[in-house]
Amino acid sequence: MIGTEELNQVRQSRQFTLQEFTSNFPFKHIRPRQLDILRKICEAFNQGYKTIVLEAPTGFGKSPVAVAVGKTLGSSYICSATKDLQTQYARDFPFIQTVKGMSEFPCLVKDDLISSELFRCSKCGSDDQSMTECFHTTTLYGPCRQDRQGYTHDHKQCLHSGRCGGHCNFHEGCRYRTFVDDYALPSLNLTPERSQEYLEYSTNTTNSLRGWLHLANLTPDVLYQRKQKFVSCPYYDQLNKGKVAKHSIFNYANFLLLLRISQASPSALPSKELLILDEGHQIETQTVGRVSISISKRILQQYIAPYKLEQVSYGYDDSMDKWIVFLGTLVKQIDDAIPDMKSEEIAQDAKDDVERINSVIENMKSNPKNWIVSNITRDSVSNKVTKLEFKPLDISSHCRKLFEKCIYNLIMSATILDVNTFCRNIGLDKEKDKVKFIQASSDFPPENRPIYPLNTAYLNYQSLQSKTTQQTIANAIDKIMSKHKDEKGIIHTTSYAQLEFIEKFLSLKNRRRLISTEQKKSYNNKSRDRSRSRDQVLVEHFESTKPTVLISPSLHTGLDLKDDYARFQILVKVPYPSKGDRWTDTKRQQDPSWYNWQTALRLVQTCGRSIRSQDDWAITYVLDSAFSQFVRNNRLPNWFMEAVQGVT
Ligand code: SF4
Repeated sequence: MIGTEELNQVRQSRQFTLQEFTSNFPFKHIRPRQLDILRKICEAFNQGYKTIVLEAPTGFGKSPVAVAVGKTLGSSYICSATKDLQTQYARDFPFIQTVKGMSEFPCLVKDDLISSELFRCSKCGSDDQSMTECFHTTTLYGPCRQDRQGYTHDHKQCLHSGRCGGHCNFHEGCRYRTFVDDYALPSLNLTPERSQEYLEYSTNTTNSLRGWLHLANLTPDVLYQRKQKFVSCPYYDQLNKGKVAKHSIFNYANFLLLLRISQASPSALPSKELLILDEGHQIETQTVGRVSISISKRILQQYIAPYKLEQVSYGYDDSMDKWIVFLGTLVKQIDDAIPDMKSEEIAQDAKDDVERINSVIENMKSNPKNWIVSNITRDSVSNKVTKLEFKPLDISSHCRKLFEKCIYNLIMSATILDVNTFCRNIGLDKEKDKVKFIQASSDFPPENRPIYPLNTAYLNYQSLQSKTTQQTIANAIDKIMSKHKDEKGIIHTTSYAQLEFIEKFLSLKNRRRLISTEQKKSYNNKSRDRSRSRDQVLVEHFESTKPTVLISPSLHTGLDLKDDYARFQILVKVPYPSKGDRWTDTKRQQDPSWYNWQTALRLVQTCGRSIRSQDDWAITYVLDSAFSQFVRNNRLPNWFMEAVQGVT
């Protein structure tokens, strides 16, 4: 019998034709540049390349290219970095099944309890009257995750015992839960069904936890409604559909979590032909985010009261062995406390945290030199430790698992820039892993997107402390905003400190046009409104008929300011990642080219916020005098450099 490895080799030796790719293109019209890229991808696969790294500028139309490749190969997973992108794929290509995380869906058991006015959340102290305050009604806190008898899954051969009406494969547990084998390919419209016996049985057994067995407790009308027809748990329903669908889209965090689970249980994420990693420049940060941990006094005190994190006597320079012992002791303390926890929601958080910390301990033990304490936060008054953060420096081994999931990989981004640095960081060996780098040019005319270096001042941490420099920066911004007095725009700072001095020194008429993220200053009472989310801020900008100007250090990525939403943008400073961040600074010292590459990524991403299509236009101004030298000395795409004025 043919083994998995041989089977993969057979699958990899397939030969494709360009016609297959073009016939699978999801739109009527293929742009010449998209056709050219499909030709190159087709040739690369036929030459035996396994991973394609595609750099294509914003507005190129990477998504339909990815869809054409996925459909030609037969099946695909897509990973997206933002919810917006996930929604966009689902809207443009309805055959792609979207998979979201547990926190996005209500647990139907809890829904039933709420409808029957039985819900009590012991963590929030909320009841069915104050539900809006409680976030513990999602599937993340479903009783099936808490080993609740009657809800946990058991898959049995019933041997015609009659309990399930003669079905051989019998799933016990929450009556709403579905499994992959409930969904048949190729039709995804199949509605899972359950026999009446199953519905009666599931989550209705007699046991000491009867208080949790909702069927026994529901009011007659809610019970009647639930028994009329089978309704599936929305989280597992979409997850299972995502596993069996030919094409499905996840966000990175969710996909990486399932990938980790699939190491022990492969059915958690079955292999497909192609893995598409959109916004591929984020693979490193997304993976670091998944693998790292943060431990805060506030959370620990919910588990072990009173927990004194300030008693930690180790510092940044202590060996990881000491920290491993510390984390091991912590896990034991939390584990011991779980059985006595009164709140099942807090107990669930504690179990999830124990699992995360244990996974970090395992990682640390296998390579202690690869880990650092990235941050120790102290109380500003007492100087006592309130939070600890641990991060790995090199995540290449974790990324490798990602690239081994499917037969082929397609990594896409507007900003790969330096493919060698890119591959090195995510553990790809260009030769051994058969990686092909393909670059697409931009068809946005450079005259629609000029970048003007204004050489206002050399900006670094020291110079930005000077009132004179701050005033000079604000004056330059004032002039630009007055020149664009009737147009919307955006100012990209690299810190909130910059945002604050710009607001302070700007003329009143231009200051009134500013809309800032997160921190909104009221000039009358100096109070700050921290309640507005990023989305609310953007809605305010989009819906206002006035020439509003966004100002923020956090809008350099994932933002679409097309057409009149921004006709000008100002970059205050070359966006070097903060050296104040210990992880970034350690990586910088280990590999200066990585640091410059990160800066270039952010620079190109930032400049791309306001020019979103071939007919769109916006002027970019860069104030930092260091800009010209930076773009001269670093690798930036040709299409980017074509727009930079006066730098050769
Ligand atoms: S499977 Fe059942 S208990 Fe688990 S989250 Fe879904 S509805 Fe809730």
